[in-house]
Amino acid sequence: MPRNISTPRSAAALAAVVLGLTACAPAEAAHAPNPPRPGAAGIGDPIHPGLGNGGYQVGHYALNLRFAKDLKHYTALSTVRARATQALSRFDLDLAGTTVREVTVDGRPARWSRTGEELRVTPAMPLQRGERFTVRVQVQAPVADTQQVTKLGVGGAYGMVRYGSWIQTSSQPSGAHRIAALADHPAQKAPATITVTAPYRLNSIANGELTATRQHGADTTRTFESRQRLAPELLQIGVGPFSVVRHGGPHGTTLRYALPRRQAHAIEPQLNKTVPEVMRFLEQHLGRGSFPLRTYGVYASPLGGELETQSLTLLAAETLTPQAYQDNGTDAIVAHEMSHEYFGNSVSPRRWSDLWLNEGHAVYYQSLWGAKAYGTSVEKSMRELYQEINTHLGEEGPIAAPRPDAVKPRTMAPYGWNAYQGGALTLYALREKVGEAAFQRIESAWVRQYQDGVAGTEDYIRLAGRVTGQDLSAFLRSWLYGEKVPEMPGHPDWRS
Ligand SMILES: [Zn+2]
Repeated sequence: MPRNISTPRSAAALAAVVLGLTACAPAEAAHAPNPPRPGAAGIGDPIHPGLGNGGYQVGHYALNLRFAKDLKHYTALSTVRARATQALSRFDLDLAGTTVREVTVDGRPARWSRTGEELRVTPAMPLQRGERFTVRVQVQAPVADTQQVTKLGVGGAYGMVRYGSWIQTSSQPSGAHRIAALADHPAQKAPATITVTAPYRLNSIANGELTATRQHGADTTRTFESRQRLAPELLQIGVGPFSVVRHGGPHGTTLRYALPRRQAHAIEPQLNKTVPEVMRFLEQHLGRGSFPLRTYGVYASPLGGELETQSLTLLAAETLTPQAYQDNGTDAIVAHEMSHEYFGNSVSPRRWSDLWLNEGHAVYYQSLWGAKAYGTSVEKSMRELYQEINTHLGEEGPIAAPRPDAVKPRTMAPYGWNAYQGGALTLYALREKVGEAAFQRIESAWVRQYQDGVAGTEDYIRLAGRVTGQDLSAFLRSWLYGEKVPEMPGHPDWRS
């Protein structure tokens, strides 16, 4: 469409013409094209600078996994739909291990190279700012077994692992891009479709709801839809000799449990008693009907690992026998992991230094569950944590600004004492300061306002102030960014 430069389109533009102002800017500069530049290799996370990728927002992930008959190899096709937030000459995905077979952008072959744990993709044509695009990356890889995982030295962030005829994943904080090419940061979470093809004699399960099953030849393909945005670190892909049982849960939720076939009878009754109880307990504290998922369940595997993978908590089968509930207090573990469906999964950390918002909350609600179920004293356990905290602040740095090298192996930073116990203690201090009723208002506002979203420490400080009408900024900052623990409100006699 030709531009009529003699017809200003607004009063302001007319005034500019009258005053001769438009003559100052050469037409070329005013309409300079935004030259395409490479997207950043990370989103600027201080603890994990390589995780996530700059220059685009992810709209959807599709992951298509196909396992070999012996489960020792797989292929993964990741399809990432995204929108460019700058003009892009090239962009990165996160990817480690695996062999790349093919990369396309909008269906056309793209050039690619690898550096460190980055896959660098150069589309045939640069992408304009705001342009939507689809990148597809096909990889293949051996599935690491448990011994190989130990050799990788990646702590709990191993990605996918095989244990006999079982597959499971464990990716916090940085293992998901060992499985497939992704933007591996919780701040880049997106709805996901996961398709798993595995030998028909085995079952398969993944985050979200089962929407299709198709048997073909010696394989079965199942498709799972996660309508909630899913952070790659919360991926769960299970394959193995398990049965999936379904039950109705509170408020019309669906509960589903993937249980080893041989142990299903022993595990199911207690698990299906505990899960709805914990869900109701959490809703008492965080708001009726507030549980962020319509479908929730547990993947009980012989390898275990206790992990809050979204909508499908990973638990060790051996901790789910009736005896183990008595010996280990398994229900408190369930309370911890289910509270992550709010804290960490629905409300995801903006940066990994915000991890205390995930783990501090999980430990806090776990301790409330302990008080309800076993009559343990929250005050007594918090006092014990208070005694210890200065030692950990010295070792790990402040709760919301942890030192990356304080956690070993470094790949597991910031999963240290402070994120868990220090975070819980901070929440307890806030409750002691504002009172139980105001604290519950903060918490329920937090999970409502940022549901299915991303939020960080500063967001929490702001929200706490807004909800209570008090300036809590200095108070919370002294807890979250201090090198020494402040006095516990209401307990001036506590010492650390
Ligand atoms: Zn946790």
